[in-house]
Amino acid sequence: MTRDAETHTERTAQAAPIAIENITKTYDDFHALDDVSLEIGAGEFLTLLGPSGSGKTTLLMVLAGFTRPTRGRILVAGEEMTGVPPHKRDFGMVFQNYALFPHMSVFDNIAYPLKLRRHPKAEIKREVGRALELVHLSHLASRRISALSGGQKQRIALARAIVFEPRVLLMDEPLSALDKNLREQMQIEIRALHDTLGITTIYVTHDQREALTMSDRIVVIDGGRVSQVDTPRALYDRPANAFVAGFIGESTLLPVARTNGGYTFQGRPLKTGRAVRPDAGQLVVRPEKLVFRDPGQEEDHNLFEGTLQSIVYQGDTLLARIEIGQGRTLLMRKTTHRDVLARLPEPGGEVALALHADDTILVEGGTA
Ligand code: ATP
Repeated sequence: MTRDAETHTERTAQAAPIAIENITKTYDDFHALDDVSLEIGAGEFLTLLGPSGSGKTTLLMVLAGFTRPTRGRILVAGEEMTGVPPHKRDFGMVFQNYALFPHMSVFDNIAYPLKLRRHPKAEIKREVGRALELVHLSHLASRRISALSGGQKQRIALARAIVFEPRVLLMDEPLSALDKNLREQMQIEIRALHDTLGITTIYVTHDQREALTMSDRIVVIDGGRVSQVDTPRALYDRPANAFVAGFIGESTLLPVARTNGGYTFQGRPLKTGRAVRPDAGQLVVRPEKLVFRDPGQEEDHNLFEGTLQSIVYQGDTLLARIEIGQGRTLLMRKTTHRDVLARLPEPGGEVALALHADDTILVEGGTA
């Protein structure tokens, strides 16, 4: 998805930038968050991504004001928020457990934050109507919450979170209860809504594809620490370390050896398209970046030879395993286009593969 930076700024005049400064949260001597610092731009869609227990929810709760950090501070539009109670932060929130009021109608649920803020009745009617339009549920205004589907409930929760035009929107795994198709549809809808309203949004998920689909930038969190902050494309193409490379997308990690001039794999010098860290130890191969070797690729590709072990047909793509010696296996992913299928070697046959220097990623760790 291409995002037009200029239009983005125009729409986000109301949105607030956030500074997270050296936030640490300890429980006894356990660090749930360990010195986390982040700058979030006004109107940005930022996702916190990490495995279970990595500290994503804790960071969101610190932002919301439900959890007091042990150290560090939060600034919103330059104003310190660290000690401000949740209801005074003016943040919209959609949490897994932030339930709608089941005994109230859809209209009354969405109107609730406006009534709390003592908006006049006519204005409430207008604002709720607009929020319902934004989530495409105007026809359900008088329905009871218990008579809604899961996807409709989540849209109503979203409408309630944005109806009072918050400066910041916080969402914690809002789609985790929905089935895959609805989840994917809602990802697009939430992102579109964000682009319309331009609210600074912080979104928590452990689903890497969801994060890649929705975000301007992704923060990968591991064990309470920020592992990398980058755009979806940069995270995928230039993972900063083995954890990020393994957590986002598929990859095969292979040990490399250091030589005077650079690195080698299985005795062959590795061509790399960009500056390489001096302490690299592993080669990251993305399965879809590998191609069957064509003549003339020696100059700007790294070459591998091996035996095709197996091919698994997975519908839109297939996954091939190639044994390349020393007990190492490369994974290669191909589309199932008929031209690809027609040219596939038989399992057991010898194959030669190529990986472009620009797709040759080296990260720290491992030993050759
Ligand atoms: P998940 O994806 O499973 O929701 P998460 O990344 O959101 O995980 P957190 O809920 O932020 O993780 O928890 C981070 C760590 O802090 C976990 O190890 C958790 O057990 C611990 N933790 C969270 N709250 C408390 C608490 N009140 N007391 C003690 N430990 C806690």
